[in-house]
Amino acid sequence: MPPLWDLPAPEAGHAARPNAAGQDAAGLKALVSALGEPAWRGGQVFEGLYRQRWTRWEQFSSLSKALRTRLEAEVDLAWPAIVQSQASEDGSTKHAFELTDGKQVEGVWMPYDDRVTLCLSSQVGCAMGCTFCATGQMGIVRNLTAAEIVGQVVAMLNHHGHPEGRPVNLVFMGMGEPLHNLDHLMAAFAILTDPKGLAIPPRRITVSTSGLVSGIERLGAFPRRPRLALSLNATTDAHRSAIMPVNRVWNLEALAAALAAFPLQSGERVTLEYVLLKGVTDSLEDGRRLAAFARRFPAKVNLIPFNPHEGSGFEPPDESRVGALCRLLSEVGLPVSVRRSRGQDVAGACGQLVREGQARKPKDSGLKTGD
Ligand code: SF4
Repeated sequence: MPPLWDLPAPEAGHAARPNAAGQDAAGLKALVSALGEPAWRGGQVFEGLYRQRWTRWEQFSSLSKALRTRLEAEVDLAWPAIVQSQASEDGSTKHAFELTDGKQVEGVWMPYDDRVTLCLSSQVGCAMGCTFCATGQMGIVRNLTAAEIVGQVVAMLNHHGHPEGRPVNLVFMGMGEPLHNLDHLMAAFAILTDPKGLAIPPRRITVSTSGLVSGIERLGAFPRRPRLALSLNATTDAHRSAIMPVNRVWNLEALAAALAAFPLQSGERVTLEYVLLKGVTDSLEDGRRLAAFARRFPAKVNLIPFNPHEGSGFEPPDESRVGALCRLLSEVGLPVSVRRSRGQDVAGACGQLVREGQARKPKDSGLKTGD
């Protein structure tokens, strides 16, 4: 039996009617042409969907009333719907989105002084099975469509309002392994970055992979693509394989080789996300191995003190150790920052996104958490 991530993830079922949401300009032109309208009206629909972020056909004031009535009768405009929102004391908000088949995923709105970052999901559940991650314990349910990926952004911007004067960053660090859903991810990326639509610059979109080397290689072949982050989290194959099963197929050496071959633009760096688990991944020796790994290609390091959640079996590191590791990495010339996960009080932090009723019980990781 091949690993789950070697198999294509299940896809959403087909709806009976076409859905305009999530379609690119060519798709929308074809859609309006099929209704007997000139193709250029597809461009008006595109701007209404992605620039105006209209969610009902009656809002499309740029179209004739007759066409709006026709679209209402024959074409869906189905975005994911926010069905629950939980505000955190730190200003972030975790949203649950319901999809057209009743499945749910989560995203997080995180405002900062100089930007707003939206954490997005790419799949319902995840095939990668990382032991520290609540989503990983669900298993894979299915891929999200381009509409379901773009729709999380549309829904959060409509809910909170577009942040005036502050850029929007998107990070695929919610539910799912984005490189396991690369086709839909890149279709969504094209819409998200289109200057006539949401117009988010490619450099403000980051996908975080668990180390799916086949996906890293595919992503590198796209001339326009998001930035890459790697969820590294361990510095020896024994430790990484114990918490991230993908490492049993592509170990640290294979990962470093793939990242060294990844075609970066001038000034671009791969972000290494490193979750610090007390007594497991936070030793000074880990820090030295992390530095050696990171110096094999242009990299920056984000140290993320673990967010404890029920059943994880892991603890957060001591603050003094976080500081010592930070110093160790910056002394060898690596850009390093400590990232406090947002939304911890509403289980919106990294590795905590999971929908009740869709989750399996956490497995025993087999790791000791203190030595
Ligand atoms: S950490 Fe990411 S890749 Fe790993 S199981 Fe969780 S969602 Fe999947």
